Amino acid sequence: MMDDGASLPPLRDVINQYGLRAEKSLGQNFLLDLNLTGRIARCPGSLEGETVLEIGPGPGGLTRAILSAGVEKLIAIEKDTRCLAPLQDVTDAFGGRLTVINGDALKIDETELLGTKAHIIANLPYNVATPLLIKWLKKREHFKSMTLMFQKEVGDRITAVPRTKSYGRLSIICQWLCEVSPQFDISPRAFTPPPKVTSTVVKLVPRETPIYPADLKILEKTVAAAFGQRRKMLRASLKPLGGPAEEYLLAAGIKPTQRAEELSVEEFCRLSEIYRQNQ
Ligand code: SAM
Repeated sequence: MMDDGASLPPLRDVINQYGLRAEKSLGQNFLLDLNLTGRIARCPGSLEGETVLEIGPGPGGLTRAILSAGVEKLIAIEKDTRCLAPLQDVTDAFGGRLTVINGDALKIDETELLGTKAHIIANLPYNVATPLLIKWLKKREHFKSMTLMFQKEVGDRITAVPRTKSYGRLSIICQWLCEVSPQFDISPRAFTPPPKVTSTVVKLVPRETPIYPADLKILEKTVAAAFGQRRKMLRASLKPLGGPAEEYLLAAGIKPTQRAEELSVEEFCRLSEIYRQNQ
């Protein structure tokens, strides 16, 4: 038997056959356009012989594209039990290279399932996209790359540069730990049912070591305080952290009259290191 998925019916037929009416509470907006699923699966580069983790395979559109890219092993975590039977058809059609785990991706320890360094590729359910990303950033040494679809507003925050309105906590933590690159936008029309907003695909490649030295917890606290009052000058917004904010800013080579959105990732790291040294 062929193991290239050629025997599988079109995705629309799968959705009808298994009665997969999209559930809003599960963030279900299915992507059925084969050009787009193929394009997403190409973002990490060659997947020949690689292990991949997919979150929320749904009816299996992106799943088929990832398997067709030649992966050795694809582990997919899906919360909706209705999707398990159609996904079994995908497993069968691709010679068992797909393993589907029924569960909540927020709660599962995916690194135990993978057993080797893997790529993550996912059209994420929007309601849990950011918590999942933060979870993976904390165990980034297990991942070669993450190609993730977000609502555009979140994707823009991940890739934003200083002095833009999207620049903030997510930009700094992501860019400190990963090389991030925007890939392409996808119109609501491409999905069934169409979501209210445009989506975007972002690629994150974890760095061997963070771009500048800093302690994650202290950096997070510093950035949260600075952007908690983003219109204020840093000498005021950093007050909740305690200590002489103005003195620490000057020690980090930053003007106390600057605002959070003007600082680079490196400047935030320098500042958080001063806070760490004065703990
Ligand atoms: N990958 C499919 C596609 O591109 O057409 C479906 C993407 S849809 C945006 C999100 C998928 O994530 C749905 O299949 C949904 O059931 C699943 N999902 C939602 N919350 C989840 C969770 N906490 N853990 C695992 N899967 C989840």
